[in-house]
Amino acid sequence: QIVATLQQSLFIDGSECLVGASVGVAWENERADVRDLGQLLQSADLALYEAKKTGRGRAVLFTEELRSAAIRSKELADEFNNALDRDELVAFFQPQFNANTLDIAGVETLARWNHPIRGLLGPDKFLGVAESLGRSGDMDRLILQKALFEMARWDALGMHIPRVSVNISARRLAEPNLLAELSALPLARGRLCFELLETISFDDLQPVLNQIIPAVKELGIEIEIDDFGTGHASIVSLLRFEPRRLKIDREIIKPIVTSPSQRRLVSSIIEIGRSQNIDIVAEGVETMEHAKILRDLGCHLLQGYALARPMTSKHLIEFCRTKDVGFAQAG
Ligand code: C2E
Ligand code: CA
Ligand code: CA
Ligand code: CA
Repeated sequence: QIVATLQQSLFIDGSECLVGASVGVAWENERADVRDLGQLLQSADLALYEAKKTGRGRAVLFTEELRSAAIRSKELADEFNNALDRDELVAFFQPQFNANTLDIAGVETLARWNHPIRGLLGPDKFLGVAESLGRSGDMDRLILQKALFEMARWDALGMHIPRVSVNISARRLAEPNLLAELSALPLARGRLCFELLETISFDDLQPVLNQIIPAVKELGIEIEIDDFGTGHASIVSLLRFEPRRLKIDREIIKPIVTSPSQRRLVSSIIEIGRSQNIDIVAEGVETMEHAKILRDLGCHLLQGYALARPMTSKHLIEFCRTKDVGFAQAG
């Protein structure tokens, strides 16, 4: 009833204001003392938070499950802070292949958390935590360091890894000290690439990025647009950055085997790339049939489980020694 009553528009100076309310409810049967009251308010707050999270404009009753979920995520947050200090983050590398020759064209660096109890965790388990702690910049810095360190090791071994990509959020890119940090690193021109994630709107950050991106390129770092086709950024605003590559999201790649219209979509993206002198990368290449279709459509680079999974640097070294991937495998 409270939610319904509050959900009425107000008119202020002739313009309509939409008003709504979310409600969290907790109750206490016994007479509560002051300390319990504090806890009661906290319980109501958790329920309120849940009401907002699950769509607003509703009421949610507190349950013990809400409290244990909150404790779990609080624990994970504490542990993540420690993880950075204790060096529990690991860089994995997934090779990218030239679509025609299937030679390794580069590797993408992917963060993992080697959790002492939970084991190896993927970014879906901790990117949100890193973000909410305001430590995703620290994480990206660390992963970049690790990537550069491994790159030097591969070079020393005489391995031919032409390029290493790291994922970077637009927010990190907009950090004021980024350029100074990057300038201090030993970067080989054209061998490092930033995969730009559309985690926040490029359009909002466009003025900042208009300054930063050319300066980043000046340092010899290439720019690649990640998850192309799924984000909210307009194609015009993305192309203005003159990226070296566009990476087509795996949700677009997956259906190409069965859907001609999806193949035409991919083909159009490749055409855009061609017109702008931008190479096209396909991610989520899960079968050799995908790989063949993409090659025939004129896609330049392929990445996916069919060709290689993300792996440790040690495994990558093994992989390069024994590499034997070819279209013959598709049968
Ligand atoms: P992404 O940049 O789109 O990375 C590709 C994701 O697809 C990776 O998931 C990879 O393991 C997965 N993948 C690769 N090949 C295949 C395939 O054939 N099929 C399927 N289904 N999946 C495939 P992962 O490693 O879990 O990373 C998830 C996301 O986390 C990444 O998506 C990226 O956005 C983010 N991320 C990873 N490392 C970092 C990092 O160091 N910094 C930041 N800011 N974000 C990161
Ligand atoms: Ca990526
Ligand atoms: Ca991607
Ligand atoms: Ca993605």
